[in-house]
Amino acid sequence: MSERIDVTEIFGKNVFNDSAMREKLPKSVYKKLKQTIEDGAELDPSIADVVAHGIKDWAIERGATHYSHWFQPMTGVTAEKHDSFISAPTSDGRVIMEFSGKELIKGESDASSFPSGGLRSTFEARGYTTWDCTSPAFLREDNLGVTLYIPTAFCSYRGEALDKKTPLLKSMEAINEQSLRILRLFGNTTSKRVVPCAGVEQEYFLIDKAKYLQRKDLIYTGRTLFGAMPPKGQEMDDHYFGSIRPRIGAFMKDVNEELWKLGVSAKTQHNEVAPAQHELAPIYTQTNVAVDHNQMTMETLKRTASKHNLTCLLHEKPFAGVNGSGKHNNWSLTTNDGINLFNPGETPHENIQFLLVLGCVMKAVDRHADLLRESTAVPGNDLRLGAAEAPPAIISMFLGEQLEDVIDQLCSTGEATHSPQGGTFKTGVASLPDFAKDATDRNRTSPFAFTGNKFEFRMVGSSDSVSSPNVVLNTILAEAFREAADELEAAEDFDMAVHNLIKRLMVEHRRIVFSGNGYSEEWVVEAERRGLPNLKSVVDAVDSLVTDKAVKLFESFGVYTKAELESRAEIEYEAYKKTVNIEAKTMLDMAGKQIIRRWCATPHSWPSP
Ligand code: ADP
Ligand code: MG
Repeated sequence: MSERIDVTEIFGKNVFNDSAMREKLPKSVYKKLKQTIEDGAELDPSIADVVAHGIKDWAIERGATHYSHWFQPMTGVTAEKHDSFISAPTSDGRVIMEFSGKELIKGESDASSFPSGGLRSTFEARGYTTWDCTSPAFLREDNLGVTLYIPTAFCSYRGEALDKKTPLLKSMEAINEQSLRILRLFGNTTSKRVVPCAGVEQEYFLIDKAKYLQRKDLIYTGRTLFGAMPPKGQEMDDHYFGSIRPRIGAFMKDVNEELWKLGVSAKTQHNEVAPAQHELAPIYTQTNVAVDHNQMTMETLKRTASKHNLTCLLHEKPFAGVNGSGKHNNWSLTTNDGINLFNPGETPHENIQFLLVLGCVMKAVDRHADLLRESTAVPGNDLRLGAAEAPPAIISMFLGEQLEDVIDQLCSTGEATHSPQGGTFKTGVASLPDFAKDATDRNRTSPFAFTGNKFEFRMVGSSDSVSSPNVVLNTILAEAFREAADELEAAEDFDMAVHNLIKRLMVEHRRIVFSGNGYSEEWVVEAERRGLPNLKSVVDAVDSLVTDKAVKLFESFGVYTKAELESRAEIEYEAYKKTVNIEAKTMLDMAGKQIIRRWCATPHSWPSP
């Protein structure tokens, strides 16, 4: 029996969270910092020294020797450079532990070896990391000892974003501002902020480390390039939700403990469809924190696997012939006082605000389907999308019977008079309770499904950062909200105007709604008939970033400049090219050294021609 742990005791133990801030900061400083964190007020630089002092004390009490600005360059993984807290030795040869406000707020590093996609020449090397105080600092304990991690954004000397966090924060501002306009139109004068939230389900494979080390292809490319299917794959469906084996259980227990200490609310764990495939899902939180937490989760999965003599594979398709791994990005908009803008209520046909929001989401997804697809474009994902286990590369929306029925009523008669209800689920067994059924079934084949009070974007690859998908989601909806608010604020008769607008949005964007089997060949044909883009590979998708439509969208909200978009496209092409090249070189190496040579060394007869 393993030792018992008290989750409430360890949760957030290594996070400079609200209770740590209260304990370590003077009341006035705490209040100012909270205003920035909660209301988006500008950070008052004069408090930086005091905050830095508080964080340092807290970290050192817990054994920290170093701090690191932690950032997310365009490589898709995280980067860190560690500095110890020690000062220059004093005259008596001793050191003191120091950490200034300047060191907390700003880091300067040589950015020249991070991908910039032509934004800078190599000689223009300076890059800055800037503290993102809305994502809490945390401690990591490992072989290096204890290190204080400070989540930061990363920009070039000229201020261009070189990372995945800066645009995300900007997109969160954009959706906040436009959502508030919509809420005000419906008479809400009290909500102060609208925060996009994400709950990120992470799929992964675990394999024995010794076996991993025998495979150059897994080591260099993250997937097997040669091999044959074993006699048994996933055909018996006996792994999905199967009981968790002891070795994997011990691993999951360690992962949970590590994540809980870091304040990541790991909640759900289960075996997935493919043999050796598993999933972990945390409770949703605001998107920039969710993105950081997902990065921490991926790192924790890898580190913990190693401790258990396992290797965690985050590649989208490590093994041909069985399912690959994705990352479902559950997304919603919630006000600071707890209103979820995607909540339809019991009777959506009467919920005019919800119908307007839904119409705007349909417009956003339809108009920018290419950008959404692009936001999930990593080479590994090309092998998964459309392979009868994950949605195809075609973006469509699944809304469920209840909402589709309401939309049909609106499109045909202009009025929606009822919402179909789920009714009661009768178990037919006297000892089992009957219960209220959901109004809508699930559809696993859809890349973008409405699931009750959130949208689940299922196209993201398992190894990828969820930052770009959320940047796109936030910005495209901000645009649709802005257009709706412009129109409705100018209307004389609001009720009439909103009714007409909802109907128009639904009629114009009905084509993006699809509830059939997204894995089928017929859908590919039908989607083409509807004029929906089918961007099958990274190479097909990347140009979506630099269309006039995309540049106009992102520039109008200050999320990306044209130059930043061009650089991102460049980086993605380059990463694709390098990935394919490494795979090709690995194949040649293995074929030459491990397959042909071994085959020649074994007694055999040559196959007859
Ligand atoms: P499933 O496997 O059925 O898709 P899970 O329970 O594994 O669902 O994961 C659902 C994810 O959605 C969790 O991370 C959960 O916290 C998140 N989630 C639930 N409600 C919301 C919401 N309103 N906004 C964003 N994410 C949400
Ligand atoms: Mg899911």
